[in-house]
Amino acid sequence: MSYVFAPPAVVAVPVVGGGEFPVHRIYCVGRNYADHAVEMGYSGREPPFFFLKPADAIVAVAAGETGAIDYPTLTRNLHHEIELVVAIGKGGRHIAAADAPDHIFGYAVGLDMTRRDLQNEMKKQGRPWCIGKAFEQSAPIGPVLPIAGGGERVRGGIRLEVNGQTRQQGDLAELIWNVNETIEQLSAAWTLQPGDLIYTGTPAGVAAVVPGDLMVGSIDGLGSLRVAVRPAAV
Ligand code: MN
Repeated sequence: MSYVFAPPAVVAVPVVGGGEFPVHRIYCVGRNYADHAVEMGYSGREPPFFFLKPADAIVAVAAGETGAIDYPTLTRNLHHEIELVVAIGKGGRHIAAADAPDHIFGYAVGLDMTRRDLQNEMKKQGRPWCIGKAFEQSAPIGPVLPIAGGGERVRGGIRLEVNGQTRQQGDLAELIWNVNETIEQLSAAWTLQPGDLIYTGTPAGVAAVVPGDLMVGSIDGLGSLRVAVRPAAV
């Protein structure tokens, strides 16, 4: 094969215990905690809905390190959304919720960074969210902990601090659509592949960060994710 330019490098996330998880697609679930749905102006249990980010939105942060993102272009309202991320190790279609754990490689702490002003404008106009959600460096993530190491994640605190102040706090047990149900619904719409990541939604408290801020997200049993916000790249 003779490529006309160098193909992009494989995007990968470190795995606790060794190795790298190669990323295929990034799926994200919208409004999956009741208190966050309410803060975004919705109520009740609606069917889950999904959007995607490109794999190269990943900013992988190794254990014990502090990652960084550049403040993105076009926005004046860059929001943090702390989320449990599910890493798929075995693909499939029409996966029943009861079988979902067989398809999970592991879990990580992630941030679904959002240009909220652009997303809101697109919502108003009934247009796609890509510009608000799917930009570069919009998906920081910590190391993947294999399910074999800690079992299924069905409860446990999830929180985000910015500059030492708590912004978001919840529990995985509050997910409207739990991980296994999410995999069932997602795999009815797309054929899941090894390497897919699923950002499962965020609890209430989403708010803006500015250059110079330090975000520290954590989920019980999965450690923490530290990401600094740098000034806009020139
Ligand atoms: Mn989100």
